[in-house]
Amino acid sequence: MEQGYILAIDQGTTSSRAIVFDRNGEIKEIAQKEFRQIFPKSGWVEHDPEDIWNSQLEVLNDAIGKLPQKDLIKGIGITNQRETTLLWNRETGEPVYNAIVWQDRRTADYCNEIAEQGFDKTIQEKTGLIIDAYFSASKIHWILENVDGARELAEKGQLAFGTVDSWLIWKLTEGKVHITDVSNASRTMLYNIHDLTWDKELLEIFDIPASLLPEVKSNSEVYAETSPAIIGSAIPIAGIAGDQQAALFGQLCLDQGMVKNTYGTGCFILMNIGEKPIISKNKLVTTIAWKIGDEVNYALEGSVFIAGAVIQWLRDEMKLIQAAPETEEISQSIKDTDGVYFVPAFAGLGAPHWNPKARGTLLGLSRGTKPAHIIRAALESIAFQSRDVILAMEHDSGSKIKELRVDGGAALNNFLMQFQADLLKADVLRPKVTETTALGAAYLAGLAVGFWKDTHELQQQWQVDKKFVRDSKKELDNHISNWNKAVKTVNFWTK
Ligand code: ADP
Repeated sequence: MEQGYILAIDQGTTSSRAIVFDRNGEIKEIAQKEFRQIFPKSGWVEHDPEDIWNSQLEVLNDAIGKLPQKDLIKGIGITNQRETTLLWNRETGEPVYNAIVWQDRRTADYCNEIAEQGFDKTIQEKTGLIIDAYFSASKIHWILENVDGARELAEKGQLAFGTVDSWLIWKLTEGKVHITDVSNASRTMLYNIHDLTWDKELLEIFDIPASLLPEVKSNSEVYAETSPAIIGSAIPIAGIAGDQQAALFGQLCLDQGMVKNTYGTGCFILMNIGEKPIISKNKLVTTIAWKIGDEVNYALEGSVFIAGAVIQWLRDEMKLIQAAPETEEISQSIKDTDGVYFVPAFAGLGAPHWNPKARGTLLGLSRGTKPAHIIRAALESIAFQSRDVILAMEHDSGSKIKELRVDGGAALNNFLMQFQADLLKADVLRPKVTETTALGAAYLAGLAVGFWKDTHELQQQWQVDKKFVRDSKKELDNHISNWNKAVKTVNFWTK
């Protein structure tokens, strides 16, 4: 078989990575570099676009440099932090402002005004999203209103908007190509997920000229070649997807009803809902998962704000543990939490509860409560919160999940994964390659260039590291109802 590799560019919020995958979907080389986070004011988060590019280029060259020849790379797939917003001058290629990162809250009041004007319903119907500062539209508006000369340049058609994927492709092609893909477009709050077009009415609501926008492509096709002046050879760029959608693809959740959960600082849960969008009644967002050929797949998405972060908090603030992995054995050493419940709503509660004012709460303490009980309650809270999101997905989609595919740092915790399986009454599958985001981008590119024949081939090579089979004898109804009471208590406290 002809030798060769696919390279995934994984441009994340705190680091840029480049991962080389072989034909079996296994990691051959990996390079990673953190870059600067800029916090100009409370609630503001920015990246220097040149830092994003330079760190990405460095790891790209590192990873490729470890191979015997550059031309062994048959295609590049790109996955990126979503929603983060850049505007640059089409003529000079110079950004007019720093990238405003998805976490940035500066446009929260503006978003409230838009909602108060009654546009929230139209926005949700057209984009599947709930109006929030998180998404790109209000960030673009902010730059146009607040950066000297930006609006004039935009009116003259001289500015380009892009999420990070667009910016990287612009740089990789030396400004020849200005594109994005449907999954990233669907996070801008300007893209109509039913018609698959930039939406005129939404552009008017946010007062954004259409001339800024990139052309929207499918997730798997040859879009362009890298400019040889940049990385020394012309390699087809053949896949793009936002990070969470890429992870859904990398987990091969290709059929309707399949769900993945990434257990990192927070949890990101996505359910493939097939070819028709469902607008959520439970405060989840609807998003485009991918478009391959003419076929579009949609997903429901929900997140848990504090997941692995509660374990960090136990380690760094409470000093109850020295390292996150200890929590597994500690939790297994006791038979239960002895009635302790921990709702780690440090940053409010996400879907389906949506209470930004909620704060963390410990309930059920007694004289006999030991650190182990609190540690176990913290781990259990990650699974309970994930279940709440998945339950909302089941209600919206009308289908009960059979299995959950998992990745992210905290998915390594066997106690947590078994508890999750028992709680969901569904099996939990942890794959061998947990770099699912990069793997998804590589899959998308590899399919487009014929490196892999079809998804059937991918399914045959995709391997499970460990399957956590649900214990159907385990009686958890009472435990669940206590958790629900704990969440109600948190909501009551903040009323
Ligand atoms: P991110 O990409 O959000 O930075 P990672 O996927 O790297 O997150 O996961 C790191 C998070 O997972 C941290 O919050 C850490 O506390 C948690 N974590 C890592 N290992 C474990 C473990 N064995 N058990 C529980 N939590 C863990």
